[in-house]
Order: sequence, then structure tokens, then C-alpha cells
Amino acid sequence: MYDPLLDESLGSNAPYPSSYWAGVAGTPPKDNGQLNQDITVDVAIIGAGYTGLSTALHLAREHGIKTTVLEANRTAWGASGRNAGFILKSSGRKSYATMQSQWGEEVMRGIYQEMCAGVETVKNLIAEGIDCDPQESGYIRVAHKPAMFKSLLATAALQKKMFGYDIQEISREQLHQRYMADHNAYGAIRYQDGFGLNPLKLAWGYQKLAQQAGVTIHCDTSVEKWSQESSDKKGQQNQTLQVLHTPTGIVKANKVVIATNGYSAKNFHPLIKNKSLPVLSQIIVTQPLKQEQLSACNFLTSNVIMDTRALKYYYRKLPDNRILFGGRGAITGNSAEDPYYAKRLLAVLKTSFPPLATLRYDYAWSGWLSMSLDDMPHVYQNEQRNIFYAMGYCGSGVSFSVQAGKRLADKVAGVSVPNLPIYQTPLVTFPFAPLRRVGQWGYFQYGKVKDRWL
Ligand SMILES: Cc1cc2nc3c(=O)[nH]c(=O)nc-3n(C[C@H](O)[C@H](O)[C@H](O)COP(=O)(O)OP(=O)(O)OC[C@H]3O[C@@H](n4cnc5c(N)ncnc54)[C@H](O)[C@@H]3O)c2cc1C
Repeated sequence: MYDPLLDESLGSNAPYPSSYWAGVAGTPPKDNGQLNQDITVDVAIIGAGYTGLSTALHLAREHGIKTTVLEANRTAWGASGRNAGFILKSSGRKSYATMQSQWGEEVMRGIYQEMCAGVETVKNLIAEGIDCDPQESGYIRVAHKPAMFKSLLATAALQKKMFGYDIQEISREQLHQRYMADHNAYGAIRYQDGFGLNPLKLAWGYQKLAQQAGVTIHCDTSVEKWSQESSDKKGQQNQTLQVLHTPTGIVKANKVVIATNGYSAKNFHPLIKNKSLPVLSQIIVTQPLKQEQLSACNFLTSNVIMDTRALKYYYRKLPDNRILFGGRGAITGNSAEDPYYAKRLLAVLKTSFPPLATLRYDYAWSGWLSMSLDDMPHVYQNEQRNIFYAMGYCGSGVSFSVQAGKRLADKVAGVSVPNLPIYQTPLVTFPFAPLRRVGQWGYFQYGKVKDRWL
């Protein structure tokens, strides 16, 4: 598999991975096809995942700027078409308590508002008619150890106080009786407002809305090289043009948005060089559970579920009674497709639900997400304000990437955005960047020890 830390190009026109989403989503909407000529545009966007599509949609709708999106493969071929489809009011990995102590109450609340706005925007766009199989609301965080239940209750108390959040406290017994009999759960808290959906259908819906608003989307159009030239039109101020080289045409643009997140190739652009760590997340989807298997596990809920481990597991029951189960994947692209990782997830799933001892999985796939050094996404730009990016969602970008795209659109249009570190500071450069993978390996070892013994 393509490895963003090692490969300088991700290639083009690859099919969707054989994911459950691609299996059930139906026929993709038509894009504008591969670029087949040289063009000059005002704004070019690289990447047709949620970030790129949302930026394009909001630029067209809110600022009247019709952009051209260049996608190496196909719409949502990256993380946007591979994720677990959990819509949560969060992004990054930094807790609100840490934000409060680092930046104070006002900034922490400002970030919370942006996360809430992300979920609202997703819901509003779905309400425009996106068919993406949203499931019942509810996000359950399960304690994987008794001590973690106490810590969850403390988090719930803090969030109730800070945001007036409606959070239910659920004992192990209540969880088993009312939601699902997860043998690895020692109690849980439940937020009312998270939910699951089909992430690929969501992206296809965004694509259609963007096209209706006048956006052009060229799939199978990989930006392989990036240069600059000055425009010397008579009577016009000398201006730098960005020149994007694709195998079948050159795109000259006044402004460029980088929306490539965890799929950004090595040395793609100096503005994002060494500023994120691409990490693989792995998902399996099981066979559909029979009624007696559902009953044996008392699997009543379709809420989205995540545990408290440092190396988290997440799962949900899909509309056709299969279980989607995810967790960390391989470290390198080379070993990403080793069945070991999918089998490991199935083994963990079975420790949670012993009655499923004979269950198999029908789908397994993985995808790259982008970790930032300070555990927060950043929406930023260069000094000249003609190259912009949003990345570093740390595995939690299905809803926030839409808000990030909206804010990117504001920035491109020259409109001010909230005065928050996520919008006013760049991604932090990783020290000892060539050793990022060693650091990741070390964190995985620490996580294993912490989750088991500490
Ligand atoms: C397995 C997995 C599970 C996840 N689960 C969840 C979840 O349940 N909830 C949640 O909130 N988040 C989840 N995430 C994270 C979430 O999916 C991402 O944060 C989000 O999709 C990022 O969207 P994006 O548009 O920024 O990037 P992507 O969707 O990765 O899109 C980047 C696009 O850029 C294209 N591209 C790259 N380089 C070039 C180039 N040179 N030229 C042209 N095109 C290029 C790629 O082909 C790709 O389509 C998960 C991620 C993974 C991998």
C-alpha cells in the first residue's frame, strides 16, 4: 500500500478499497473526468475528501468563488471513504480540560463551539437530501477497566459543568441490559448526540452539492509536481501563480488549497513538510449477526461505541446487523494488508462478545489518518496567503473537516475567522522527523503496557 512517509507520489485512478462502504454505496456520482488540457483558475483544491469538498462547496455558496478540485483517484478515495462513520463533536486528541489549562476558558469554549458547528453543518447538509444511512443518536464511551469508569465519570461531571452536556452514566449491569453485553466494559458514559452513517455516501452527497453549486471535480488527476511562475499580464500587478503539474494537464492558480491530509505524499509541499504523522487505522466488518447471536450478546444498540484504551477500539452495529470493529493498524504501508491486523481485531471483538466465537469477517481495510504533534487540527496558510491547508484531525475528522473546509473557504476569500489556535497557528514541525515511526512504535509499546497493566 502507498506509504505517505516513504512515497513521493500516490499514483492515480486506483479503485476504492474493498470496504463495506464501497460494497453497499451503489454507483458513484459522475465527476468532470480526468483533466485533459492546461487550465488557469482562480482557486485550485488538491484532494476530494471531506476537507476539499467542503472548502469547494463553501467557497461557491458563501463567497461566489467556483473552484476546481483535483483528485488523484476518486472522490473520498482516502480516509473520507474508509472511516468508521462516527459523527462526534470532537477533533484532535486534546481534552477540553487540557485546552482550558493551556489557553483559558474562552479559547476552550471557542473550540468547542467550532466542533459543535461541524456536527450541525453535517446534519444540515444531510437534511438537503444526502442519502447516507444515519443511525440512531448516541455515543457510548466504555471503560475498559474499573478504574477507567471513575475517570469517565469525572470527565462527564466536568463536561456537564462546562457545557451543560447531557451525559448518562451507565453501570456495567445497565450497559449489558440496555445496550450490549460487552464483556470488556466496566461501565460507560453516553452522550446523546453522536451517531453513525455511511461515510462514502456522505462524501458522494457533498460532491453532488458542490457540483450543483458550480464546482468542477477532476478525478484521476494527481498533482505530481508543484512550481511557481509570475504572471506578467499588462496593466496588472506582478503576481505569483501556482503551477500544478498533473500527468494530463497543467493547472495555474492564484490560490491553492492542500486538502490531502493523511495521504499527503513525502515532500509534497514545504508548507506541510514534517508537520504530521500518517498513521494507519484498520477496520473489519463481520458477517451479519443472526437473531440468536444478537440475543446472546443482547446487542440492542446502534450507537457508536469507543473504549478508553490508549490504543482505542471502536465499534458499531450496522443497519444490516453486521459489526464494524476498528483499531490501530500496521505501522508501514508495506505491511498494511497483512491479514494479521484484521484477525487481531476479530480476536479482540470475540473477547468482548464470547457468544460470537465462530463469527468471521467479510470486509477488512485500512486507511491513513493524520496525527499532529500538538494533538490538534490546524487550518492555516503561507505568509503570502495564497496556499492554504487543513490537516491533523488525529482520526476524528468526519464532522470537523467540514467546519475546517468552511473556515478554509473564509480564509481563501479573505474573510476573518475566529481567533483560535486551530485557525491562527500552523501545524507544529515534528522534531527528529525521520524518526517519527520509531516514536510511533514506542507509543504503541507504551500503550500496550498502559492498557493492560496501568
Ligand atoms: C480507518 C479510519 C477510520 C476513521 N474513523 C473516523 C470516525 O469514525 N470518525 C471521525 O471523525 N474520523 C474518522 N477518521 C478520520 C477521518 O476519516 C478523516 O479525518 C477525514 O476523512 C479527513 O478528510 P480529508 O478530506 O482531510 O482527507 P482524505 O479523505 O484522506 O482525502 C485526501 C484526498 O487527497 C487525495 N490526494 C492526496 N495527494 C494528492 C495529490 N498529489 N493530487 C491529487 N489528490 C491527492 C487523496 O487521493 C485523497 O482522496 C478515520 C480515519 C480512518 C483512516
